[in-house]
Amino acid sequence: MKEEKSGLRRLIESLTDRGEVMLIDKRVSLRFEVAAIMKKYDGKQVLLFNNVDGHKNVVAGICGTRDRIAYALGIQPERLRSFLREALKLPEYPKVVNDYEAEKELPNLESLPILTHFERDAGPYITSAIVSARLPDNSLENVSIHRLMVIDRRHLAIRIVPRHLYYICKKMIEIGEKSLDVGIAIGLHPAVLIAASAPAPLGVSEYAVANKILNKTLKLSECRTVEARVPSDSEIVLEGKILLDKEVEEGPFVDITGTYDIVRKQPVIEVEKIFCKGDFLYHALLPSGSEHGLLMGLPQEAKIEEAVSGVVPKVKDVNLTPGGCHWLHAVVSIEKQAEGDGKNAILAAFAGHPSLKHVVIVDTDIDVSNPAEVEWAIATRFQGSKGLVVIRNVRGSSLDASGDQKLNLTTKVGIDATRSLLKPREKFEKARIPIEPAV
Ligand code: MN
Repeated sequence: MKEEKSGLRRLIESLTDRGEVMLIDKRVSLRFEVAAIMKKYDGKQVLLFNNVDGHKNVVAGICGTRDRIAYALGIQPERLRSFLREALKLPEYPKVVNDYEAEKELPNLESLPILTHFERDAGPYITSAIVSARLPDNSLENVSIHRLMVIDRRHLAIRIVPRHLYYICKKMIEIGEKSLDVGIAIGLHPAVLIAASAPAPLGVSEYAVANKILNKTLKLSECRTVEARVPSDSEIVLEGKILLDKEVEEGPFVDITGTYDIVRKQPVIEVEKIFCKGDFLYHALLPSGSEHGLLMGLPQEAKIEEAVSGVVPKVKDVNLTPGGCHWLHAVVSIEKQAEGDGKNAILAAFAGHPSLKHVVIVDTDIDVSNPAEVEWAIATRFQGSKGLVVIRNVRGSSLDASGDQKLNLTTKVGIDATRSLLKPREKFEKARIPIEPAV
């Protein structure tokens, strides 16, 4: 067997040395049982299942905490946002070395430990796969994460929101194509997953962002039977085609909010080949769990920081909060210099992360990751008649169950909970007791 270990494999080994990996040898079921255990630990531990209905090496929780993601990327947690901003600014396309060594070919999707997560989900879903596709003239490559519903042994339904893969599909239809080749990879280093979740502009391949994050060590391979590229160290590669003239009902499925997303007509992927490493690792990712939230949220925190930095002198911290599904609610702390800075920060935050629904702007003495402190700032520094910004009928997240899900319209609310500069500063200070407690 080849001894070149994948990035994910090496990472799990070093996380094992750090005592962050819990081995689960008990036989558990693909249907609900793994998901129930993942929900219980919610990323606090990496879980390595050794017998999921007979499948070995099912891993969960790799990106379950900010600290672990930072460790995987080789940086301090405080640097996550600036690091991602740099990678998005200076992407570098990786080398295509075509050294993907598949040790096995699997007959069909039944050979993979694909989980059923929630009670009323439509069926088993692959939740941690990247999908890469490009236009035939190679002018554009996109890599993104999509939920993939198993239809049968050779077919998946793919949820495609109107972003870049959607754009490529439309272009293909315009030039009369009936299908789009895709490379689907599972079992990847967190850098690739974060890059695939990051809002790189159309025309920038997320592989280039991942390569920058990985200090130019990412290597790609051309798929064998389709026109698409995958990371050379992918644990599992599915080669197939999106059928552009075929749709099926996709869902219901629990997505990031922990509620059932509606059933929609979505395209079908025909899976032609499945290659894998020997003893492949399968990355299980619990929808609405912390790992899901952080992978989707971290790159958006970087975008929010960038956008708000454009309108106020200094952004201290940004948190897409767990209660807001790591997606819909942000708290941003700023160094306020002029009355009105808070409101400009609200508008910029909405521009930076278009799915954002509610944002609270606070001063730098408030810890954005402490909900009680944020609430305290709202209680003592916010006036509804002055600091509230309500924007009606704007495009929001398709995942917001309370909005108009057909048109994706929502109401956005910003709360400026920064202290007023027009009143004496001491009115808003957190009072301190000037000595340390003796006991
Ligand atoms: Mn893209």
